[in-house]
Formats: sequence, structure tokens, C-alpha cells
Amino acid sequence: MNIIEDNNKAGIEPVRLGLDNRFKFKCHKNVKCFTRCCRGINIVLTPYDIIKLKNRLQLSSEEFLAIYTEPQLLEKTDLPIITLKLLDDDQKSCPFVRDDGCIIYEDRPTTCRYYPLGVASLSHKEGADESGFYFFVNEPHCLGFEEDQVWTVREWREDQGVDVRDEMNAEWTDLVVRKRSFPPNVKLTEQSKKMFFLVSYNLDKFREFVFESSFIKLYTVDSKTQETIKNDELALLKFGLKWLKWLLFKEGDFKINEAEAAKRGQKTQGDR
Ligand code: SF4
Ligand code: SF4
Repeated sequence: MNIIEDNNKAGIEPVRLGLDNRFKFKCHKNVKCFTRCCRGINIVLTPYDIIKLKNRLQLSSEEFLAIYTEPQLLEKTDLPIITLKLLDDDQKSCPFVRDDGCIIYEDRPTTCRYYPLGVASLSHKEGADESGFYFFVNEPHCLGFEEDQVWTVREWREDQGVDVRDEMNAEWTDLVVRKRSFPPNVKLTEQSKKMFFLVSYNLDKFREFVFESSFIKLYTVDSKTQETIKNDELALLKFGLKWLKWLLFKEGDFKINEAEAAKRGQKTQGDR
């Protein structure tokens, strides 16, 4: 059995893991370090995380962003990402941690579900250009590695419900990873970055933008699609990501209404 040895030692190079690599780990309420990992941690939020969290907390996406997040730039890209805003206490605690655990556990973010594994494509780490590999977060306080339960990465993902989330986030992760591979001199316009933020994080505002601007006419969105994205947040997110792919990379079957664009004096091609 190929168990990664010594995977809890601090200071070692991150170990790259594939889906079938095995590791020993178990987390439960009786470990001495219970909830230590919920403090001082960098939690990148994905679009699907935000949908789940804002709905759980009964907030609009705008309210959720204002209360619980802070913007950052992802290393090696100029794409805006957001992270969970930690409390201003001694330990920089997550706002959702209590002595007996996480109060939003069923809807906890993807990063928390993967822990103690990290996902390269969502990481700030150097060398994170390649998608599809995992590594240990390697925090010395985490004693879960001393337990005897053995997992493959694939089993861990399934157990933590990340396989479903990753499927939902796949298109978004693809955009982020591909942007990382741009040469440094290829820059996104401020407008493109604004649109990336809107679709990725502020879905309620994106819905308003689609239905209350010239968007529908400009992109000739058919009535069935309009109906679906008006009522289904996940469909709206998928639609938005498809549009972003067209906007950033000029890929996909998004079609612009040239006559409408000309009437409005908008560009149909041009800078990213
Ligand atoms: S630090 Fe590790 S073992 Fe401790 S609660 Fe967090 S994940 Fe579980
Ligand atoms: S969201 Fe929950 S699991 Fe994640 S860091 Fe906060 S308290 Fe811990």
C-alpha cells in the first residue's frame, strides 16, 4: 500500500498527490486540535461556495460579499478572487467556528472540505499552474494524521462532497487556470475583470445586469434560456461562465447581435 509517510511534518516540500494516492487521516471532535484549522487559514471561495453560503445565511450575494469576504488577486494572474474574511481576534478565527465546531458545516466551503488537502488550481502556491493535483496543507498543529484511517484522495473527495462541488466549479477553475498560463504581458481590461467578478461572485447583480441592461438583445438570448436563468441560480452561473469564456478567450458559441452592437456603438472584437 502506497501511504505517503510523514505527511504531517512542517517545512517539507508540498507532496503532489493524484487521485489514487493514499494517506492516513481522521478528524473528529475528540482530537486535541479540534477547530485549530479554522483559524488563521486562507479560504478561497468559489462561485458555488458563495451560492451555498449566501442562501444558507439568507443574504443576497452583495450582502454576503460585503459582510464575509475580502478581495485579493490570485498569484500569477490579475484575476480578482475573494477569500473568507477572518475575525480580528488573536487567532484570526473563521466567523463560523464555535467551540463545538462549524455552524455552517453542511454548507462549508470547498477549501474546508478538502482540508488537509489543498487543490493546486485554487492555491496561491508557486507551481500551481497545473490543474488536477492535490497536496497536503501541512499545518503542524493538525493531529489528524496520527489517526489510523486510510483514504485515497478519490475516497476523501467523495466523502467530503467535493466531487459534486468540483463539477459545479470546473468551468470556473478552467478559466482561472487558463488565465494563469497567459504570458505576463497579456492583460485583461478592467471591464473584463469587473465582469469576471460579477459572474463569479455577485450572481444576484449579474442577473440584474442580464435582464435590466441591453445584454439580452446584444447576445440574442432565446426565451427558454431566459426563463431558465431567471429562476435557477446554477443555470445562471453556468450561463455566466460560458459568457466569460467567450469574453476572455473568444471561445464557445456565444453570438453577438452585430446589428444591435453597431446600433449601440459597442465593440464586437478587440481587447480582452
Ligand atoms: S486541525 Fe486537523 S485534525 Fe484538528 S480539527 Fe482540524 S482537520 Fe481535524
Ligand atoms: S467555514 Fe467552518 S469548517 Fe471552514 S474554517 Fe470556518 S468554521 Fe472551519
